[in-house]
Amino acid sequence: MAHASPAPASDGPPAVDVAANLAAVTAEVQDAARAAGRDAGEITLIAVSKGHPPSRILPALAAGHTTYGENRVQEAGEKWRALRAEWSGAVLHYIGALQTNKARDAVAVADAIHAIDRPRLATALAREMDRQGKRPDCFIQVNTGAEPQKAGVLPDGLDALLTQCRDDLILPVVGLMCIPPAAEDPAPHFTLLQELAARHGLDKLSMGMSADYRTAIALGATHVRIGTAIFGARPAP
Ligand SMILES: *Cc1c(COP(=O)(O)O)cnc(C)c1O
Repeated sequence: MAHASPAPASDGPPAVDVAANLAAVTAEVQDAARAAGRDAGEITLIAVSKGHPPSRILPALAAGHTTYGENRVQEAGEKWRALRAEWSGAVLHYIGALQTNKARDAVAVADAIHAIDRPRLATALAREMDRQGKRPDCFIQVNTGAEPQKAGVLPDGLDALLTQCRDDLILPVVGLMCIPPAAEDPAPHFTLLQELAARHGLDKLSMGMSADYRTAIALGATHVRIGTAIFGARPAP
């Protein structure tokens, strides 16, 4: 869990040592990879900075971490326009649900998009990529738990969506992404995602968050999305 140090001031929220948390999570990712007999170099740590101000992100940038995750297009645009002016090497992944009418801004701001889950969104993203001459890596989100409130294509709809994305729209689909149901053992969901990716010849697996990334790495994750363990609790939106 996130270290809260040094000791909190008497007013305001406790300080969070982002650099120390980042180092600890990075070491943990490497250890999990080793334990799974995998090369840590094939795992990308996406530091999920959504909801946090630039002041909270700067220590991670200063420590040399390059890859970040955001899940609100407008917030990402505002924060990263400024941050990228100084940190031009930063790589931004858009994670989670995306409204079709935000496709333009998502393509403009993101280097990778982990959100494709329906034909209209795929079509809108393809149109924007053509228009902007930019091709962020695409992950298809799969609703492995078939939760009605959750984004993601159902496992039995993946085949058709992938055919549309790859064959009709020529989207640069690199892999699959999932968020397991909160109250369940995540392992079967990670295994299902891994099987679906293998069946469709996809290399990348975006799975694992602060609470379950070791399990995800053991089951083949190539991208772990970790927020709280690095940046501390998010302020209420
Ligand atoms: C917020 C978020 C994360 C990070 O969650 P933590 O529990 O804070 O690590 C990962 N993936 C997605 C899609 C998110 O929205």
